[in-house]
Amino acid sequence: MTQVGNRRIDLHLPQIIVTAPPLPASSPALVVFEAVAKRYGERVALRELSFTVGRGEFVLLTGPSGAGKSSALRLVAGLEVPDAGRVTVAGTDVGALNPRARAVLRQSLGIVPQDLQLLDDRSLLANVMLPAQVAGLVHREARRRAQAALQRVGLHELDADRLRPRALAGGAQQRAALARAIVNQPALVLADEPTAHLDAVAAGELFALLGQVVASGVTVIVASHGEATAPPPGARTVALRDGRAVA
Ligand code: ADP
Repeated sequence: MTQVGNRRIDLHLPQIIVTAPPLPASSPALVVFEAVAKRYGERVALRELSFTVGRGEFVLLTGPSGAGKSSALRLVAGLEVPDAGRVTVAGTDVGALNPRARAVLRQSLGIVPQDLQLLDDRSLLANVMLPAQVAGLVHREARRRAQAALQRVGLHELDADRLRPRALAGGAQQRAALARAIVNQPALVLADEPTAHLDAVAAGELFALLGQVVASGVTVIVASHGEATAPPPGARTVALRDGRAVA
């Protein structure tokens, strides 16, 4: 254990994690951005960005391309650290964690990356099983969880043992990536532009699925430039422009 600020953090990767490690339940807000700044070289991605996401909320981060949506998600996931300000997840200051502790934090999140990162050298089921296996579940249990996750996203009727992800239509690939994100039963799911390449019907279906994930008690943050799609029922919009939240 190591002291980070007033918190004690276990910096050792657990050998076996049978499910996503629970996020501490201490603070009412799950994600807090406080005057966060982030730049990549000369490019300013975020400037004094402040917003809060409560537990169980469905938040849509909107804004034009370049507004800072992906950067904000990467900071929540600890894939980047702020240059100034603070990002806290379940009360933990992500920027104060070392890379290994940030990797542990990431194991407790479900992430749907913009490019999905589905692996075509293995089946759909094997893709969804992967995070469960990385978390230390034995094959049979990982398989059971993956089948349950595929059921939750409506892909259970596919031959998931044999189909490769590339054989799926765009909407089904997004659902597969969502199944993989929820297989470890995370408290927080981050999805980067999940509807960007979908038609209006498939986009509506995906938002409905995300709504069901929220209804099951999970907090969901979606980055979406989304002019084409109306925000799903129950979602709160945080609009970004030039790296700041706008009213
Ligand atoms: P959005 O997701 O809203 O499109 P991003 O967070 O991807 O916005 O980008 C915000 C700004 O930061 C843009 O100007 C973008 O070019 C820049 N940016 C993001 N990531 C990088 C990077 N890895 N290297 C350089 N510039 C980046």
